[in-house]
Amino acid sequence: MRRIQIALPSMGDDEWHAVREPLTSGWLTQGPKVAAFEKAFAARHQVGHALAATSCTTALHLALAALGIGPGDEVIVPSFTWVATANAVLYCGATPVLCDIDRRTYNIDIASALFKVTPRTRAVIPVHLFGLCADVDALRAALPASVRIVEDAACAAGASLNGRPAGGLGDLGCFSFHPRKSITTGEGGMLTTNDKALAELADILRNHGASISEEQRHQGPQPYLLADFDELGFNYRMTDVQASIGLVQLGKLDAFIDERDRWARFYRETLADIAWLRHPVAPNNGRHAWQAYVTYVDPEMTPLPRNEIMARLHGMGVATRPGTHAIHMLGYYRQHFGYAADDFAGARDCERNTMAIPLHNRMTADDYRYVADCLHRIAA
Ligand SMILES: *Cc1c(COP(=O)(O)O)cnc(C)c1O
Repeated sequence: MRRIQIALPSMGDDEWHAVREPLTSGWLTQGPKVAAFEKAFAARHQVGHALAATSCTTALHLALAALGIGPGDEVIVPSFTWVATANAVLYCGATPVLCDIDRRTYNIDIASALFKVTPRTRAVIPVHLFGLCADVDALRAALPASVRIVEDAACAAGASLNGRPAGGLGDLGCFSFHPRKSITTGEGGMLTTNDKALAELADILRNHGASISEEQRHQGPQPYLLADFDELGFNYRMTDVQASIGLVQLGKLDAFIDERDRWARFYRETLADIAWLRHPVAPNNGRHAWQAYVTYVDPEMTPLPRNEIMARLHGMGVATRPGTHAIHMLGYYRQHFGYAADDFAGARDCERNTMAIPLHNRMTADDYRYVADCLHRIAA
């Protein structure tokens, strides 16, 4: 039987050859390859600064730490997102304040976010969920000027809004290179900003708070130099091995997205006759990065519960997943913040009724037709 995975990284000989150099040169951790990857990533996303990190989660932590967010501060986070978005706020000792989402875009509901603003609010983290940019421009216009915007662009490498790429829409942006995203380094992340002072501070914080980097010490003519540590930092350095892979993957990003965009259109057109299956928004004011193709199974119209549809597709060899979880439903958040299921109705609804169907760069035309056929068989 055909087996179609929900996501699968696309790696080839180019990536294989690229890791040769760091493996043989002896420079394994953050060094020249990370610098080259950062430069290329910043150029592609039209930002002044890009800093590689070990993951999007640690990039988010760095972003909030660079903003000086700590105990007593509040950061607004949409409830329908990966748990890491809210966890990063807790790592700083600050309070994540959840808000609801727009059920059509799956992204932050701006009115709901504004309702949560207090004098303690330091930042909002709009999430570009599944590769669709949240309306950061509208959010910026509506928020008090003192509230910073940190984009969770984990899914949004290559996405854009109103002609500007993700990562430069807010004050800082955070990307992921987990294998589930469209380009990957195994694990990895990137922090972007146009603010030089924030970039310099984040650079120090990711390297233990050291005032000079290992690379500077290694290359400089003063071997007696020791770094000073004025900040409590972390070790969030990406390796040069990962960055070598990242550089090759970044070169393929636009081709990956173009291909995904074509098949997203195929799904939208081919499955348009299934009335209970709502398709993700295809923006006309930007570019969707299609990290995932997340449909919504309308509970009022569907002949079968979503879980039953997912189980049937599984039986036919087609992997599906719920879009993501609602943070206010997760044990840790329920216990510590006393959330109830219906606190964020949009997030809860989307947790229950969304269904990601396979979309990645290792699927063939036959694979896509097969997924569509299976859905039609279920709908018949
Ligand atoms: C994947 C993801 C993350 C976490 O990324 P990592 O690189 O795995 O830390 C955070 N937020 C969102 C929205 C994600 O999809």
